[in-house]
Amino acid sequence: MSLITKAAIARDHNAPLIIEDVALRAPGRREVLVEMKASGLCHTDLSIVQGNFPFPLPAILGHEGAGIVRACGPDVTRVKEGDHVILNNLIHCGECEPCRKGKVTGCVLRSELDAMPFHWNGEPLRTLSGIASFARHTVIRQEQVTVIPQSIPFASAAVVPCGVMTGAGAVWNDAKVEPGSTVVVFGLGSIGLNVVQAAAISGASRIVAIDINPGKEQVARLFGATHFVNPRDLALPLKEHLTASLGGLADYAFECVGNVDLLAQAVDLVDPFSGVCLAVGVPPQNQSITLPASTFYLGRTVRGTHIGDGNPLEDTPRIVSDYQNGAFKLNELVTHTLPLDRINEGFDLMKTGQSIRAVILY
Ligand SMILES: [Zn+2]
Ligand SMILES: [Zn+2]
Repeated sequence: MSLITKAAIARDHNAPLIIEDVALRAPGRREVLVEMKASGLCHTDLSIVQGNFPFPLPAILGHEGAGIVRACGPDVTRVKEGDHVILNNLIHCGECEPCRKGKVTGCVLRSELDAMPFHWNGEPLRTLSGIASFARHTVIRQEQVTVIPQSIPFASAAVVPCGVMTGAGAVWNDAKVEPGSTVVVFGLGSIGLNVVQAAAISGASRIVAIDINPGKEQVARLFGATHFVNPRDLALPLKEHLTASLGGLADYAFECVGNVDLLAQAVDLVDPFSGVCLAVGVPPQNQSITLPASTFYLGRTVRGTHIGDGNPLEDTPRIVSDYQNGAFKLNELVTHTLPLDRINEGFDLMKTGQSIRAVILY
């Protein structure tokens, strides 16, 4: 028996999402039906709608959310009806070889993310990352959800899977920032702010937040930045300014904008021997980056991240626990809340840079 529910459907590129009834099949083996309570809006959703990120439409987007388990299919062991859950981008069975080796993005269940439990006008609908958090209800594998305490507000929980996990995971899992480090962060959207706060939690002693929007200074400092730099205000080139004010190059740099020129700058700002530069932002697919051949001579690392390589069984509970004990800020990331039928206004807020995270509340 299918459930009829409402979803925001991305029908065509550069067109507003439409709210329509869709049919959702019952949960199968190891799947659960989740009633969504909140969904974050991410820049990747916007990039897909704008045609800047390759993903076929029509589809139900939305890849970070929180809700309540309403039904369980056969062989569900990790959750039960009534559990409050976060819906993660990455799936983790914990049993396959990549999972046992700690390679979270390689779980053999990854192909399950392409399951299409929704139908619209008789045709199956794609979903992003197997989540479809822009629908009132969704069906998802049990290995993709994390049970959370019922005291956590859904809006705050909803932003954990992408905006938070990408930034915090890049710091904790990929760069492995250690106490006393000097960290440089380009771009203070949701992901950049989470890089800042995760670096602060890791004990970085100097965290330089860089953004051309002067309005970002206050929030960057709230999240733990020790320095704020607006490159447009500088008399010197950025590298000279930072070298002078920090007394040397950075241990870590994170590019969170998705701009290839900034990425090249970020690579140049880390120590040529032991420095690590993380490409966190998603540049347009057709662009290339050129680096001097000398970039790697002395040992410098340049690497990427996929959603912070965040493990739903370990990293999601850690963030929730840090939030509960006051160490991790989630509420401050949610600057706007909207009902599903105003989802397009949420994208407008993102385009104009007014929101850190806009969240749909069901
Ligand atoms: Zn995202
Ligand atoms: Zn696995």
